[in-house]
Amino acid sequence: MTYKTVKTVVTIGPASESYSTIRKMVAEGVRIFRLNLSHSDLRWHKDIISKIRNIERTTKEKLVIILDLPGPKLRIGKLPADKLEIKQGKVYTLGIKGDIPISREILNALSVKENIKLSDGKLELKPIKKNKESIIAKATNSYTLLSEQSINQNGLRYPSEYPTKNDVKAIRFGLKNKLNTFALSFISNAKDVEKVRKIAGKDSVLISKIERREGVDNFKEIVDASDIVMIARGDLGLNMDISNVPKLQEKFIVEAHQLRKPVIVATQVLESMVNSSIPTRAEADDVFTAVEEGTDALMLSEETAIGNYPVRSVKTLIHLIDTFKGEVMRKSDYAIRSEDDALAEAAVKLADSTDIRNLIIMTIDGASAFRLSRYFDSGIRLFALTPRFETFKKLTFGRSIEPFLYKDLNKGMESVKGYLRKKFKTRKSILVSGAFGKAGSTTKIEILDL
Ligand code: PEP
Repeated sequence: MTYKTVKTVVTIGPASESYSTIRKMVAEGVRIFRLNLSHSDLRWHKDIISKIRNIERTTKEKLVIILDLPGPKLRIGKLPADKLEIKQGKVYTLGIKGDIPISREILNALSVKENIKLSDGKLELKPIKKNKESIIAKATNSYTLLSEQSINQNGLRYPSEYPTKNDVKAIRFGLKNKLNTFALSFISNAKDVEKVRKIAGKDSVLISKIERREGVDNFKEIVDASDIVMIARGDLGLNMDISNVPKLQEKFIVEAHQLRKPVIVATQVLESMVNSSIPTRAEADDVFTAVEEGTDALMLSEETAIGNYPVRSVKTLIHLIDTFKGEVMRKSDYAIRSEDDALAEAAVKLADSTDIRNLIIMTIDGASAFRLSRYFDSGIRLFALTPRFETFKKLTFGRSIEPFLYKDLNKGMESVKGYLRKKFKTRKSILVSGAFGKAGSTTKIEILDL
């Protein structure tokens, strides 16, 4: 496998739906694909899943498919004539029977203190007053508004059923197609994560997307209940002032790593490459920042789903990551919260003070591997062996982790050593493992002379 430190997640869409395009991306080292169920019909998604499975068979590389659930995204209703020409400076009514139709729940949640953002922020309306039936607001720019476009406001909190009917349908579709890695859009608390797990199964891999006020407020309990975290900067930057996004990204990466969960930084990573063959300098800088802050993965969205340069975007991102990984400082300021944490740090120090460059981790649920991967970019390779397919999938996201599915982990050390000898061809390695039967533990370091 092409060794990657920071992983690349690729969203498949019309621009990248062909077998050959996906195949090229796998050749570049991509192992994780996302299907956004807010777009396209299930038949289209089914077709992509079977293409990815075919590529998996021909390349013998295990590929992870994320089904991104639509979630309770707030939208305006249907407009008469399906569109409305909004003129800057003109006043409009938003309400059950307004110029811009909205539901009672949305009306109740909106405040007059912050601008209302429509169509992912491309139109802003400044509220003037609100009564029981409507909110009156002045357009700050001109825009052609279409039916069912999104509506947001800084600090907006809203009650929502979770998962939605569409989410449940999408989960069932996934399970029927042997997929159980789901991204939970607009998640707001741990209880809702558990509800999804009940439907998706206890072995499901759940990625919580942090993109609304409640998700920010309840970050820790959500991360605890999930397997992976996505900082969904698109909607996050619409549901609060955009100036909050950079510092939340930095803080959430560290906090998720304290809880031994990998992080994906998403949205507008190389946005200009939707239309341009090269990224902007600011985008290169953004990638550097995310790599330096310790993200496990970066995600491409429109760049690969609808852009003009899908493969080139992948190559560009991987090139930036490969260049930056050698330039960033290793993060080393994690709080040691347990003996297990201390032992993991000791393994890193042991590698640093010797010439052993391989850390082999035997892990059932991934915790030992994530304890180590947060000390990224040490020039040390992390090989993680797990007998569980679900853990293998989670490990695929982890920074610097090279995952191996090894079913015979419980057959004793001689069998493990035989496998390692064949697989890694190096003599000395540091072996890190947890106690059997004690999920989440890291209890043993050993120098292995293979
Ligand atoms: C986001 O809002 O940043 C995001 C990743 O969600 P989606 O692409 O599903 O809108």
